[in-house]
Amino acid sequence: MNFPLPPNATIGLVGGGQLGRMSALAAARLGYRCHILTREVDSPAAQVSHCVTISDYSDPASLRAFAAAVDVISFEFENISAEGLELLASLKPVRPAPDVLRVSQDRVLEKTFLNGAGAATAPWAPVGSLADLHDAVRRLGLPAVLKTTRLGYDGKGQAMLRTMDDLPSAFDRLQPKPLILEGFVNFSQEISVVVARGADGGMSAFDTVANRHHDHILDVTLAPAPVPEAVSEAAQSIARTITQALNVVGLLAIEMFVDETGRVLVNEVAPRPHNSGHWTIDACPASQFELHIRAIAGLPLPPAVRHSDAVMKNLVGPEGAALWPAAVATPGLIPHLYGKAEARPGRKMGHVTRLFPKGALPGPFGIAAALGPLGQDQGDSG
Ligand code: AMP
Repeated sequence: MNFPLPPNATIGLVGGGQLGRMSALAAARLGYRCHILTREVDSPAAQVSHCVTISDYSDPASLRAFAAAVDVISFEFENISAEGLELLASLKPVRPAPDVLRVSQDRVLEKTFLNGAGAATAPWAPVGSLADLHDAVRRLGLPAVLKTTRLGYDGKGQAMLRTMDDLPSAFDRLQPKPLILEGFVNFSQEISVVVARGADGGMSAFDTVANRHHDHILDVTLAPAPVPEAVSEAAQSIARTITQALNVVGLLAIEMFVDETGRVLVNEVAPRPHNSGHWTIDACPASQFELHIRAIAGLPLPPAVRHSDAVMKNLVGPEGAALWPAAVATPGLIPHLYGKAEARPGRKMGHVTRLFPKGALPGPFGIAAALGPLGQDQGDSG
């Protein structure tokens, strides 16, 4: 099928989570159908989609059948194997291309790419052995963060190294995976930018936002980020440069640190919709999910403008799920629930967004009040 995809075309999405769910809702509004490939029965994405294939991501017969049933393929789940994605790409257009995922799946390839594209990162070194780790610590100093190169998310597969005594136990715990040591960034803020890029190279980048984490999981996003204009602009420029250099067709989310001197360092990139872009559903005429679908379907990309400032708060685990009655009862909060039956600890169950007129985003100490009954744990986030 040629691009742009006509109405009623079918978009294949690998992964059945909330990112797929919100992408499928945006696709439906544009007149497309979504077909989800997931291991999970009753997944958040399949609940709102036209069709689902329930299978392992590495089963060639299922991948072939899935590809045969769709017109273009994208993903919200990044841990599909390179071979699986290559197989899909041999059958139907995969957007972003498998090469982009290959880079973002491996922290060493990713950092090499980022530095090669001119983006600053924390200092880093690959670690294959305990001797390598000692060597790397001698060069980078302590504190430092030891991470698995692959399959890490939300702080999983990471160990903080504070003293030399931490090295053997951290190395043993994260073994036998390949590892990377990163110098610890004493950041003043964590920020991110979501960029959409079309096949023609045109880009639309959402405003720079600030992210606050709780137990390594995103808790709150502030849009726009309360940072100096120069920092926000630097983040935008880095994000566009990387998206272009990776030749992304679709979305790229770029997570960055602002260090204590105001320098912007890239932490990692994700070639998919991103949790720090959920505010765009309510605060922008076209959300990150709409831009994702537009980019992969070959539709024109509108500018990624916002009509409002926004605070987004995640509802995580059983505690987050318990906030649902308050989320739907509090005027001004826009609730989103992901349809997950079981609220396991650390699981993202939903989010709420609160909008403000542009320029009226409360300062750090107003966030708790802005979230009403959901802001009670925001006391230390100023
Ligand atoms: P990641 O899985 O790389 O996104 O890391 C999860 C979180 O750990 C980040 O959002 C930071 O809060 C923290 N973190 C990761 N790497 C570093 C680093 N090099 N220096 C300081 N904090 C870090």
